[in-house]
Amino acid sequence: MVSRVIPVDPFDLVIFGGTGDLARRKILPGLYRRFLAGQMPEDARVIAAARSEMSDAEYRAMIREAIGEFVSKARQDKKAIEAFLKRLSYVAIDATGEDGWDRLKQATRRDVVQAFYFSVAPALFGPLAERLHNRGIACETCRIVVEKPFGHDLASAKALNATLAEHFHEGQIYRIDHYLGKETVQNLMAVRFGNMLFEPLWNAQYVDHIQITVAETVGVGGRGAYYDKSGAMRDMVQNHLMQLLCLIAMEPPAHFDPDAVRDEKLKVIRALDPVLPDEIVRGQYQARGKDPGYREDAENPASLTESFIALRLHVSNWRWKGTPFYLRTGKKLKARASEIAVVFKDPPHSIFGPQENRRGNVLAIKLQPNEGMTLRVTIKEPGPGGMRLVEVPLDMSFAEALGENGADIPDAYERLIMDVIRGNQTLFMRGDEVEAAWAWADPVIRGWEERGDRPCPYDAGTTGPEEAQILMHRDARRWREIRE
Ligand code: NAP
Repeated sequence: MVSRVIPVDPFDLVIFGGTGDLARRKILPGLYRRFLAGQMPEDARVIAAARSEMSDAEYRAMIREAIGEFVSKARQDKKAIEAFLKRLSYVAIDATGEDGWDRLKQATRRDVVQAFYFSVAPALFGPLAERLHNRGIACETCRIVVEKPFGHDLASAKALNATLAEHFHEGQIYRIDHYLGKETVQNLMAVRFGNMLFEPLWNAQYVDHIQITVAETVGVGGRGAYYDKSGAMRDMVQNHLMQLLCLIAMEPPAHFDPDAVRDEKLKVIRALDPVLPDEIVRGQYQARGKDPGYREDAENPASLTESFIALRLHVSNWRWKGTPFYLRTGKKLKARASEIAVVFKDPPHSIFGPQENRRGNVLAIKLQPNEGMTLRVTIKEPGPGGMRLVEVPLDMSFAEALGENGADIPDAYERLIMDVIRGNQTLFMRGDEVEAAWAWADPVIRGWEERGDRPCPYDAGTTGPEEAQILMHRDARRWREIRE
């Protein structure tokens, strides 16, 4: 298969927070990889901004180092790195101050695509938006990219939306959820709506249940103080898992265009039943030997914040009435593995008589570590000895299936940044979607706070608390194994 890289229009991308962790780990390495792929046009420029005083040369040295650390060795081409670094410049600006803005204005052009990436704390969105507007830096067609967390609850999300709306219209605002940038997540739409095979079965009549798992092996480590105010519900469920659920559950949009897709996702969130207390399990990892527990990592010995969550959701509409969605995410679990599994019902009648341990069809969509899909189908066990059935996986690893191209699957950030430049908002969250997700999450979180709910302890390296297993067993179902 021949690689197809379609160059984007010339652009100026200004990265506020250009010296931060996200910029060094994801944004700049991602841009370098797009440069290497030939997607950055000749006159595309990147202008980094942060408070620290630094020359262009010093900034380029910082990013040279970041590329050395965060780009695979195979992609580190000395000449290409130097050519890429020439596209970068740096302006010292305090988002809340008045200096540096004239320099930024001089450094940016108004006759190319203009994008401003707010890779800074959300408290700075307002001051940045105001200054970009009042100083006449942002042109009418410019794009604003904002990072998670988009709010802490419904009220703060509304306030952030209102702040941005003072200076920019919704069509200019790109709210990043990097899960939506993953190749597999987009493939989910391709598989659902590009084939005749699945969509007729994609409903409560044929689907027994759906599982969405995002498991991490790391703890909250260095970001304990931030995480302790957030927890798995705010950090993972309200945004990433909710977005995955929307893509699985939504109706086919009339077109693959941003508003058509986002309208359908919004309808899913609005169709969610309120969650009952016995449909959620919260967990917190415990200290084991020398390994610190969550409370040590968070430096809060009395913390009631959850590092694990499992829940059952119901989408109350014609398509899904009666098919539960089980969501689970946690830290310090036994493996780093994220997948969506669509578990189909058994055939209504077995012509082969009773079969032990039949497990039925499952379409598993793997998001990490390796992106791909597996369809579990039933076949006859080979050899003589009667009609015994076994399940085998039909496996499709994207990297293998797509040959050279597969090995070159762009990272989520690369794709999303290029979509910003192209002006395609399909994979970004709209303001009303974010607010609807908070409107769903808020009462659940409030309920825990009012009840003084205590998370269930679990050991690091396991699948989470026992109570999460019970949540499934009660419904005569079980979680899929968490494995890489
Ligand atoms: P970080 O490492 O703390 O970097 C913050 C950046 O903002 C630095 O470049 C800092 O540089 C700059 N900054 C701070 N105050 C400023 C001000 N008043 N004016 C101008 N620049 C200022 O944070 P990060 O991890 O990169 O995260 C950035 C944003 O992305 C946050 O909203 C975070 O929640 C979100 N995010 C991060 C990740 C991640 O993996 N890191 C993942 C998802 C979302 P100076 O101190 O020199 O000003």
